Formats: sequence, C-alpha cells, structure tokens
Amino acid sequence: MDNYEENYLNRRPQDLCKMCGKCCKVVTTPVPYEELLEKAKNNDKAAKDFLDIFVPFDSIEAAREKDASIVDNIIDTMKSDNPDFSPEGMTFYTCKYLGKDNKCTNYEERPALCRRFPATPWAITPPDCGFEGWLFWKREEIKEKIRHEKEELLELKLLKTRNVNQQIMERIQVVENKIHKNIDLYKKYGSEFW
Ligand code: SF4
Ligand code: SF4
Repeated sequence: MDNYEENYLNRRPQDLCKMCGKCCKVVTTPVPYEELLEKAKNNDKAAKDFLDIFVPFDSIEAAREKDASIVDNIIDTMKSDNPDFSPEGMTFYTCKYLGKDNKCTNYEERPALCRRFPATPWAITPPDCGFEGWLFWKREEIKEKIRHEKEELLELKLLKTRNVNQQIMERIQVVENKIHKNIDLYKKYGSEFW
C-alpha cells in the first residue's frame, strides 16, 4: 500500500458520508471531454472507468436542470481559485447507475474512482457533502506542516549565523529538501504561497 492511501484514504472517516448521491448526480473533470474520449481510446484506465459510468450532459444548462446548486458550486469554486476562469467549454456528467432514491445501483461493482471520492483534500465536493469539514481540516493540516518546516528552516539559518557546524548545515539541507518536495506536491493548490 502506498503512502497516499496510508496517509489519506485509510484515515478518511467513511461514516461522514451522508449517502446523498450528490457526488454521482452532477460532476465534471479538469480534463475536457474530447481529451477524455481520446485517452479512453488509448486505453487510459482512469478515462475508461470514468466514461463507463458517467454520461455527459448536452450543455451546462442541462446539468443545471438536474441540480443547479452542484453546478454553481463547482463553477464558483473554480472561479475563486482562478478569477480568470470561464465555464465556457466545460462538460458536466451524471452517473447512469444513480438510482431514483439517490443510491448506487452498482454499488458492489463501482469503480475505484467512486470508492476513493473525495480522493484529495482539494476535491470539489457538492454543497453539504458530509466530508466538507474534514477536508478543510486536512488541507489546513498540510499547510501547517509546510509552515512548520519553514519556521524550522528560519531557526536553523539563524543558528548558522551564530555557529556554523556540519550538523546544522546538514539539517538545513534536509529541511530545505522537505519543503521543496511538499511545495512541488501541492503546487497546483497554491503551495508556493503557504
Ligand atoms: S456528496 Fe459527500 S456526503 Fe454525499 S454521497 Fe457524496 S461523498 Fe457522501
Ligand atoms: S457507480 Fe455508483 S457510486 Fe459510482 S458515481 Fe455511479 S452511482 Fe455513484
């Protein structure tokens, strides 16, 4: 099992899920529909799994008819991350296995992407998703970790001005590497400014 699963997925309190089905009702992807089709044609497993269950809406308006609050929440979140963002060209999807009672009719066979949702602390969840608070806390935890590393680096650099020794120099290198690694890992979520 990789670190990601040990650190995130396995600790995710599954009982927070309200089983409301909103995350199956209207979704989108960062990858445009045409690109997803192309990837699926080239046997990309994630694209194939997604297109096996999700059916595209003809337009954003059609998706809004299904559930406007979910569509608007996704667009608003993307705009808050990037003020230049435009929803033009976005494709929304609904899952063909979602029953009228908002329960999955394919539960035992559902793909990994369903089992892993919300797959990162930055996943856009529908309004009132039971994971909202927990995801917020997880995001803060990661930011705090990087801030602590930066504080340690400052302290070490201060120490270095008073007393240069091999041990301090090595520790500085270790902490700098940790910071760079974490910033790289979360770059798309704005980690350079944390
Ligand atoms: S939207 Fe959240 S609470 Fe509702 S089913 Fe999906 S993961 Fe569970
Ligand atoms: S397969 Fe089931 S769990 Fe997965 S998106 Fe569809 S309804 Fe939801």
